[in-house]
Amino acid sequence: MISNRCKNIEPSEIRKIFNIATKDSINLGIGEPDFDTPQHIIDAAKKALDEGKTHYTPNNGIPELRGSISNKLKNDNNLDVSSDNIITTCGASEALMLSLMAIINKGEEVLISDPGFVSYESLTKLCEAKPVSMKLDEDFNINIEDVKNSITDKTKCIILNSPSNPTGKVMDKSEIKAICDIAEDNNIIIISDEIYEKIIYDKKHYSPMEFTDNCILINGFSKAYAMTGWRIGYLAVNDNLNNKYNLIDNMIKIHQYGFACATSFAQYGALEALNGDQSCVYEMVEEFRRRRDLIVKGLKKLFKLTTPNGAFYVFPNVEEYGDGMEVSQKLIENKILCVPGVAFGDGGKYNIRFSYATKYEDIEKALEIMEDIF
Ligand code: PMP
Repeated sequence: MISNRCKNIEPSEIRKIFNIATKDSINLGIGEPDFDTPQHIIDAAKKALDEGKTHYTPNNGIPELRGSISNKLKNDNNLDVSSDNIITTCGASEALMLSLMAIINKGEEVLISDPGFVSYESLTKLCEAKPVSMKLDEDFNINIEDVKNSITDKTKCIILNSPSNPTGKVMDKSEIKAICDIAEDNNIIIISDEIYEKIIYDKKHYSPMEFTDNCILINGFSKAYAMTGWRIGYLAVNDNLNNKYNLIDNMIKIHQYGFACATSFAQYGALEALNGDQSCVYEMVEEFRRRRDLIVKGLKKLFKLTTPNGAFYVFPNVEEYGDGMEVSQKLIENKILCVPGVAFGDGGKYNIRFSYATKYEDIEKALEIMEDIF
């Protein structure tokens, strides 16, 4: 009964971990901010509900939100994207799905960093296409020569994710530019997942769209504004790229039949998130920085570790004590939840992912337990 398309993908390893977790575990596995959504954003959504904004919105989202996203892209990223070339989606998750479904045919190839975010491989397989690994070096850099050598006449797109889940790596400008050059030389589209853009510490964020027209930019509200449950994200297609291929109209077809529109009142919350006071973002990022400094200092005593510059993950190499699966099982038995790196691809076999989107005191406790174990 079940389609081959569906049989071809596995449930996320991360969910499996949570299923074995006990209530008194310290959760360093979770991939979402532990903060609640800031009050002014909640108030804006409540106001929208009170005002009866409970109906379908235009498929691509309310014009005010798309206009504000267009302004945000100009102000933060120095990009000119017309609000017509933006679609408000049910989270960045849907934006990823729309992008892939709109451009990928059966049998085509998608370059994905390994380790990389779990959805990329599965969504590629759902499109009946072939995920091709871009192996990362010890410090999580992409090997540009390897990428060039991986390109075939079937390569359709490259997915980039900076800051990265699971590594916390923020790509350098030169690295991004090099990938953009490859994309241009080979007529490949870059899908750039920039969901952790605002959660960045000692480096600057660059979008590939600054260097190439061949780019679909994906972002959202889940991480920067602690709005994971609101399910609001967006995609922006470069104006020239859209003129060439009419991507937006084609993505809207999928969005329309699959989702109709993103939730109406949540869009008003997102509008307030973008246009309201940004100090909530700075405060959350400062707290993440404090926790990152703590966990990096503690873990460096135990494991080989590249200091992450963004997102809220650390991805130590635990090879000294076994592979990532063995070590994470040991940790879970000792009531510390984490995710084995292999959940993000074979390239993460000897790593584990810790999230520090959890209380400072819990991180301190977890570090004490780990010092006893290792
Ligand atoms: N991309 C990455 C890299 C993520 O880590 C996540 C969430 N875990 C998403 C996309 C999905 O975000 P959203 O909640 O906006 O669907």
